[in-house]
Amino acid sequence: MTPEKLFHELLGLGLNWEAIESRFERESGTVFLEIRETPRLWETVRCLEDGGLAFCYDHTEVLTWRHLNVFQHRCEITCRLPRGKCRQCGQVFRGRPPWEGLSTHFTKEFEAFALLLMREMPMSKVGEVVGETDTRLWRMLFRQVDAAYAEADFSQVCCVGVDEMSVRKGHEYISVFADLVRKRVLFATEGKDHQVWLDFVTALEKHNGHRHAITQVSMDMSPAYEKGVKETCRHAQVVFDKFHVIAHANQAVDEVRRAEVRLGGAGVWEALRQSQWLWRKNPENLTEQEAARLAQIDQKSLRTAKAYQMRLVLQDIYRSASVLEARRRFRVWCRWVRWVARLQPKNLLRAMVKVAAMIERHLAGILAHWKWGVTNAFMERLNSVFSATKRKARGYRSTTHLITMLYFVAGKLRFPQF
Ligand SMILES: [Zn+2]
Repeated sequence: MTPEKLFHELLGLGLNWEAIESRFERESGTVFLEIRETPRLWETVRCLEDGGLAFCYDHTEVLTWRHLNVFQHRCEITCRLPRGKCRQCGQVFRGRPPWEGLSTHFTKEFEAFALLLMREMPMSKVGEVVGETDTRLWRMLFRQVDAAYAEADFSQVCCVGVDEMSVRKGHEYISVFADLVRKRVLFATEGKDHQVWLDFVTALEKHNGHRHAITQVSMDMSPAYEKGVKETCRHAQVVFDKFHVIAHANQAVDEVRRAEVRLGGAGVWEALRQSQWLWRKNPENLTEQEAARLAQIDQKSLRTAKAYQMRLVLQDIYRSASVLEARRRFRVWCRWVRWVARLQPKNLLRAMVKVAAMIERHLAGILAHWKWGVTNAFMERLNSVFSATKRKARGYRSTTHLITMLYFVAGKLRFPQF
């Protein structure tokens, strides 16, 4: 078998195309495979407008498509694509050759391979491995994700989570909407005001979903999101998820620590120095060293230790077996926080009192956790998924790049080609 015949078989070119020459260019280390059409092609080509038969009008310049390597050598398919002319309407058109991927520079097989690598490593690394520019690879990913996203079906979506994610340090945010049942990202867009909800339901309904089919929305206690839900999804019950409630308490502990370092007087600075990570953990997760450090700290007199204790108790409330028990314990917790805070000088526990007030304001939504709790795990994971996405997209931090990568990583999209 000649090499050309072999390539013909391996590429599955069929009867309409033939490999006419293969050569190895030593300087560039590239295998070139030249393909051209056979007369039989014109028996099957039809005009896109009216389905009329076509004949060969002319040929394009020599075009190239990057294919999978041959024995570690770069391989490129070259072809002067025939352009057809319709016998009925006279229109001239360029067909798609069967090996072409969604981007005009790569074959289908190469795109499939590159996507596989993109799942495993950052984009810049993929570029190094396959020897392609980031720009071309990103363009390919855009085409693939756009095509797969267009086919995504949201008709079963009923439980939705939404969260804001920081794109850059500081003030640039996107809102990410997720399907909590099928555990996938549905939609992401710039901004974090109530308008993003309108964008979301528009996307949802483009994909066969329905805004009034949404029965549960899990989110942070942000007034903007709450307003957005109320305006768009009539039947949605808002659930403030555990993850966010505890995150607020964690933040408050940190605020208390910083206030105490500033205002606490002699000995306090020494005791709290570099302790911020201790307070973010649960006692059972501390390393031996950290546990020893915590034991050293004089817990009785420190407000930070008091705030930490409050956070632990709050977390424990989530172990309550029933919503009735939880309601009672949240109320007791809020009273207790206020009572303790009143006894402190300089209002050092102010941040904790704010958390209590927020819990009271949002109690119904917080208690909805006991009805829906099981579905919320995905929201907790979303933050780490998003960090991984940012690492993968490093170097290209335009929001569109980031959102495309997020759909690719967490959208559970089906890539129809493969
Ligand atoms: Zn035609």
